[in-house]
Amino acid sequence: MSTTENVLPFIPFTRPHFNQETIDAVAEVLRSGWVTSGPKLAEFEASLSEYFGGRPVRCFANGTATMKIALQVAGIGPGDEVITTPISWVATSNVILGVGATPVFVDIDPLTRNIDLNKVAAAITPKTRAIMPVYLAGLPVDMDELYALAKQYKLRVIEDAAQAFGSQWQGQKIGSFGDLVSFSFQANKNLSTVEGGCLVLNNADEAKLAEKFRLQGLTRQGMDGMDVDVLGGKDNLTDVNAVIGLHQLKQLPAFQTRRTALARQYFDVIRSELKSAELGGLKLELPVENFTDSNWHMFQIVLPLEQLHVDRAQVMTELKDLGIGTGVHYPIITGFTLYQKLGYNTESTPIAQRIGRSILTLPLFPGMADEDIGRIASTLVGILKKHRKN
Ligand SMILES: *Cc1c(COP(=O)(O)O)cnc(C)c1O
Repeated sequence: MSTTENVLPFIPFTRPHFNQETIDAVAEVLRSGWVTSGPKLAEFEASLSEYFGGRPVRCFANGTATMKIALQVAGIGPGDEVITTPISWVATSNVILGVGATPVFVDIDPLTRNIDLNKVAAAITPKTRAIMPVYLAGLPVDMDELYALAKQYKLRVIEDAAQAFGSQWQGQKIGSFGDLVSFSFQANKNLSTVEGGCLVLNNADEAKLAEKFRLQGLTRQGMDGMDVDVLGGKDNLTDVNAVIGLHQLKQLPAFQTRRTALARQYFDVIRSELKSAELGGLKLELPVENFTDSNWHMFQIVLPLEQLHVDRAQVMTELKDLGIGTGVHYPIITGFTLYQKLGYNTESTPIAQRIGRSILTLPLFPGMADEDIGRIASTLVGILKKHRKN
C-alpha cells in the first residue's frame, strides 16, 4: 500500500478563482480582434465607478502603477514627504521613492497592524504633502480620524487600499468616499484581473490627468491631433484583464460571504484548539474580530516567538511539511538593504519591528472547505505545543 493515500491535499495560503463564464469571456475578447485597452476596459471602469457611488475610476496595469499615478496626480515629487507604514508590501514605499519623494515611516497599532494614526501628527514636517495608509488584510484605519488629520494639516490622502476591495467604513465602501483611493487586482487580491489596479479620483480633471500619465502623457485631438505635455508611462490595463474584472465583480458578494464565514470559523476553531491543548497562557495574537468593515483579504496571526523554541521559518516549514501553505505579509520595509542604505532603521518603529518578525498569514480563500480550517488550526496548535518553552 502506498503511503501517499494518507497524505492530505496541500492547502496554499491563497488561490484565485476564475469560473467558466470568465474563461469563456476571455476567449471571446481574444477572438474579437481588439485585445488591448478598448470597450471592455471602458465597461469595467464604468462598472467600478457605479460600484464606488459614481466617483471617477481609471484602471491601470497593476496596483503599483496605480499608486505611482495617484502620487503624480497629487503632484507629489522631489522634496516632498509622504507618511506611511513600514508593514506593507514594499510597493507602497517604493512608489514614493519612485516619484522622487521621501517616505516617512510611522509605527503601527499592534492590534490592527495598520499605521497608528495617533503617531502621525508627530511625524508631520513643513515638507509633508500626503498620508498613505495601508489597510492590511483589508481592515481599514479609522477613516474619520484619517480625514480629520488630513484636513487639519492640509494633506492629501492616497489610500493604499490594494487589499481592501469590498471593505467598508460605517456602511460605506472603501473608495466610495475620501481622496485618492488605490486598489490592486493582482492574482492574490479579493478581486483579480490577474494583474491590474484601479484608482478612484475626485473629479474629471484628475481622471484626465491619470489617463495622460498612464499613456505617455498623451492627449488626442480630432482625427490626427496628438500632443504630449507631461511625462507619462505605459501603464494601461488591457481588455483581456478588464473582462476578467467584470466577471469577478459579479462574483464578489459570494466571495465576500465565504471569506467572512471562514474567518469566523478560524476564531472559533483556533480558540477551542488552544483551550483543549491547554495553551491558555500562550500569547498568540489573532486579528481584530471585525465582521462589518474588513473584507478578510487575509487571516493573520502573530506568533508568540518569545514563548517558543523555534523561529517563524521553522513553524512555516513544519506547516508546509504537513500540507499547509502560509505567507509573510510583511517583513518590515525599513529592514530591507535599499532602505537601510537610505538611512532608515527598524528600531524607530518597535511595534512594526516585532510584528514584521512574527506575523504569519494562514490560508484563506473562497474555494477552501470548512474542514480545511479545522485541519489548519489543529496542525498549527500542535506545532506551537511541541515547541513551547516551559
Ligand atoms: C498588492 C499590493 C500592492 C501592489 O499591487 P500590485 O498589483 O501587485 O502592483 C500594493 N500595496 C499593497 C498593500 C498590496 O497588497
